[in-house]
Amino acid sequence: CGIVGYVGSKQAQGVVIEGLRRLEYRGYDSAGIALVNDGSIASDKRAGKLANLDKAIDEHPLPASTIGIGHTRWATHGAPNDRNAHPHLGGEQRLALVHNGIIENFAELRAELEAEGHELLSETDTEVAAHLLERELGKGVDLTTAMQRACQQFEGAFTLVAVDAQDPDRVVAARRNSPLVVGIGEGENFLGSDVSAFIEHTRDALELGQDQVVTITREGVEVTGFDGSPAEGTRYHVDWDLSA
Ligand code: GLU
Repeated sequence: CGIVGYVGSKQAQGVVIEGLRRLEYRGYDSAGIALVNDGSIASDKRAGKLANLDKAIDEHPLPASTIGIGHTRWATHGAPNDRNAHPHLGGEQRLALVHNGIIENFAELRAELEAEGHELLSETDTEVAAHLLERELGKGVDLTTAMQRACQQFEGAFTLVAVDAQDPDRVVAARRNSPLVVGIGEGENFLGSDVSAFIEHTRDALELGQDQVVTITREGVEVTGFDGSPAEGTRYHVDWDLSA
C-alpha cells in the first residue's frame, strides 16, 4: 500500500525505511526493501509491522547502497507472509520489483512463464510481473524499455517500481489507475505513493499521468508513455506545514 524509491548519494536504506514509516498511515500487513550493491540485489522482507523488518535488518545488515526501493503491502493475492511480501525478484535475481494494486491478467501470464520453465516462489500477481520484466531485460534492453514493454502486457491497476542489479544508476516506475509521485532533489530523486514518502528531503514534486513510465537517476527524471513516446507529468510544489 506504500511505495518508496530512491537514487542519490545518501544511504538508501535509511531514506527508504523512513519513507515507509511516513506511509504507514495508509495501512499494511508486510514490509520489504531491496538495494542494489555491486552487481547484485540485497533484499529483506517481513510480514507484520515495519519493526519486524527493522529487527531483521539489524540482525542481518544490508550492504551500503545509494539506490533502493521499499514497500508496504496490503495483500490481495496470497496470504500476508514473508514469502509473499515484496520486493519480488525475477528468477535470475537480477530484477527486484515492488507493486501496489492488482495485475488482473496475472494467471494467464503466470501460465505462460511456467510453460517456459520459470519457477515462481509466491502466490502473488507481483512475482509474475517481476519475472516478465526480467525476461525483457534479458533481451538486452535497459530497465526503462523493459518496463514500457512489460506494462503493455499488464491489465488492471498498478504502481510498479523496479531496480536492475546491473544498472546502479536508475530506478524505474510505472502507473495505471494507482498513485505515483516523483520527488525532485539535487543529485538525488525520489519516488513515493504520495509526497509524505520524501517530504523531509524535497518539496518539489512531479505527479505522473495515467499509463506513464518514469526513470529517475541522480541527474534527472524522464517520463514516457507505455509506448516509449515522450511525456510530461505535472510539476508542483508541496507547501504543507510539517509541524501541523
Ligand atoms: N497485489 C499485490 C499483492 O497482493 C500488491 C498488493 C498491494 O497493493 O500492496 O501482493
